Amino acid sequence: MPNLPETFLKRMKERLGNDFPAFLASYERPPQKGLRVNTLKISPDEFVRRAPFPLDGPCCGDPACMYLTEEKAGADPYHFAGLYYLQEPSAMTVGETAAALPKARVLDLCAAPGGKTTHIAAQMKGEGILVANEIDPARARTLSQNVERMGVTNCAVTSAPPEKLAALFPSYFDLILVDAPCSGEGMFKKEPNAIPEWSEENVARCALRQSAILGEAAKMLAEGGRLLYSTCTFAEEEDEWQIEEFLRRHPDFVLLRQSKLYPHHFRGEGHFCALLERKNGQNTCPSPANTKPYPVRRNAAANRAFAAFAADFFDVCPRGEITTLADGRMYLVPAGTPDLTGLRLLRLGVELGEWDGKLFKPAHAFAMAFGGDARRKQTLSREESERYLRGETLATDLSDGWCAVCVEEFPLGLGKCVKGTVKNHLPKGLRKVK
Ligand code: SAM
Repeated sequence: MPNLPETFLKRMKERLGNDFPAFLASYERPPQKGLRVNTLKISPDEFVRRAPFPLDGPCCGDPACMYLTEEKAGADPYHFAGLYYLQEPSAMTVGETAAALPKARVLDLCAAPGGKTTHIAAQMKGEGILVANEIDPARARTLSQNVERMGVTNCAVTSAPPEKLAALFPSYFDLILVDAPCSGEGMFKKEPNAIPEWSEENVARCALRQSAILGEAAKMLAEGGRLLYSTCTFAEEEDEWQIEEFLRRHPDFVLLRQSKLYPHHFRGEGHFCALLERKNGQNTCPSPANTKPYPVRRNAAANRAFAAFAADFFDVCPRGEITTLADGRMYLVPAGTPDLTGLRLLRLGVELGEWDGKLFKPAHAFAMAFGGDARRKQTLSREESERYLRGETLATDLSDGWCAVCVEEFPLGLGKCVKGTVKNHLPKGLRKVK
């Protein structure tokens, strides 16, 4: 049992009454782990057939969300291939509630490390535009890596304060998720260092920050759009009262539903979630601005080099607008991407590779998104994959040139075939350390 703050326990006892002993007893159990199958890459049924560890579930209405007991699932080749995301079970219910539609404009405002972003991306099936934003630059890099690993093709990863986004996108998004920074009362088992940081003053500070973030989110929601607010805390100031105060300040919003999961009722660590809708024809939000499309920079020579590479690499090449930045990096821009000028942009759609004026060199992100469709594939067993993931060179029958290196049919990264060997092009930072 962790050493929980006295005031926290007193508050919980007042709140839960007769349920308090059951709540307290939940701290005797180890934290509940979960795994969400990435349906962009594999169906839940097929994953269960292949999974090298036991799974149990589903843990909510989404069949991709399962309970997990395996400790080392993060070191498995299927994890490197982005077949799943390790996520706490009650956090998955937030993604389930989001129920994002393909073709929608979606903003995940507080997105790192990307659990809910990648859940929403799976629901969107590569269609529409998903802006995943994280204010903290280091956390934004982790978010960007997870988006890449999961092979998401329609996401822009930005790192900006909410007010900067709100100035650019008045009344723009159909769905906004605010998975707010909070006092983390539901994280005490998983992250015990959150315990000494807890205080009533911190709860109050968090509530103020959440109120400010929600205010900015409201400005960006289109009429008829949905705002999903969630926290992993139990404090009313950050949950129910936060929503009550928001509705008072925004009479053009209605509450569709609200839920609070407690660890003594649900097999998970706990979460709060409220789904709101902005009604049509009312106005506490700014009018929509005429948001311009993303200014694609076409480079005919770079596009020709990519087309030549792709004709060798694929039977059917991925289609779409390609933008080539001044430094030569080429991206496949998701259809409907707005102008993101002025924002710190970490990722846009799929990074195809780099054009140095003479040669095209494919990027790791390209392999993770499209490598499964490659004609040039080096297919490895799970055991052989461990060698690739450690950075080793492999033997091959493929002719010279680039190939997608796959565990079974799922891409892990790129290799370059030279005279019967595959040179390892897995980025050094993503390799497995012994
Ligand atoms: N949605 C994420 C997921 O499912 O993986 C978890 C998000 S976490 C609960 C909240 C995030 O909000 C943190 O990454 C934190 O850096 C970010 N954050 C902190 N202060 C913020 C602020 N003022 N505005 C927006 N985001 C903030």
